[in-house]
Amino acid sequence: MVQMPKAHQTILEINLKALKHNFEHIKSRINKDTKFMAVVKAFGYGSDASIIAKYLQKLDVDYFAVAYTSEGVALRNSGITKPILILHPQPINFVTIIQHCLEPSLYNAKVLNEFIKISSKENQTNYPVHIKFNTGLNRLGFWENDVEYIVTKLSETSSIKVKSIFSHLAASEDLNEKEFTLNQIESFKNITENFVKRISYKPMLHICNTSGVLNHPEAHFDMVRCGIGLYGFGNSEKENQNFKPIATLKSVISQIHIIEEGETVGYNRAYKSSSSQKTATIPIGHADGIGRQYGNGKGFVTIKGKQAPIVGNVCMDMIMVNITNMDCSEGDEVVIFGEHSTAENLATTVNSISYEIITAISQRVKRVILN
Ligand SMILES: *Cc1c(COP(=O)(O)O)cnc(C)c1O
Repeated sequence: MVQMPKAHQTILEINLKALKHNFEHIKSRINKDTKFMAVVKAFGYGSDASIIAKYLQKLDVDYFAVAYTSEGVALRNSGITKPILILHPQPINFVTIIQHCLEPSLYNAKVLNEFIKISSKENQTNYPVHIKFNTGLNRLGFWENDVEYIVTKLSETSSIKVKSIFSHLAASEDLNEKEFTLNQIESFKNITENFVKRISYKPMLHICNTSGVLNHPEAHFDMVRCGIGLYGFGNSEKENQNFKPIATLKSVISQIHIIEEGETVGYNRAYKSSSSQKTATIPIGHADGIGRQYGNGKGFVTIKGKQAPIVGNVCMDMIMVNITNMDCSEGDEVVIFGEHSTAENLATTVNSISYEIITAISQRVKRVILN
């Protein structure tokens, strides 16, 4: 049990022991020779990408992935030496990608041709690239019938080499969509068999995100790409038991108010008190990532183990919560989400998901690392 320091301001605590636990749990669900790609995009799902990546690099993770080039550059600048896949690169950043030894996902003819052009101009040979296929998500990726075209382009250049071929599942967490997912996996197998037959080497294959790993052990191929599981969520009540949320968002009671019957609280007088009530003002607002949709009784915080609902509208820098009949004082610690009252529970109150609330915590909130 990590001894949590008491918060005196709004902080996001990052628990590296929990990260290690999650990493090891996912490792226990894959074969020993399946490679592990840690997805650390969006500041490590709202935590701290550099700290997370450095820690996982020490634990001997195989690969990193981020969404955009700037995120990969930031990792290189903080000392990450393992390979980094850029999931969604833009041609304007291709020179930067090469300068920082980042590995682009090539997902259509335009980016493929542009990357061949730039890597040739930069005198590269066998520069590692990853070919992405669309198998049903309809977001990014070549089509099944593009294989011939890609292979022809590859045969005409020595500037790039395919390090992996991959795709992305649309509904790996939804067991009602199992048939669709199995079709995606089947289609990926057909594409890659056809592709590999036409080249003289064997790129790595990968299709699973966290829920894919948990729900489709038959589809791990050569590598898995895990994000949310590392941060402590398994996308189902059952799987959540196996993970520990790494981030705890904490704050403090700045002020307590007694609200008499008929008085209102906050902007636009959105809350009207029907009796004498007690509220606490907390220094966290929508500019910190607690969206307005959490206001007016939907979202809540936890004070001394008890839930206090948000009253009225969420302000930019503050929320007010109802602490009527609660025994607490100014200066007391407040948990917005953490290990017990989880980000997923809070997100559910506004029909959102863990991914959204954890990645929304803005850079204004101080990150505190627990080792
Ligand atoms: C974000 C992302 C992942 C990670 O997904 P999780 O559900 O967080 O494990 C994997 N692959 C791709 C292509 C992604 O965009």
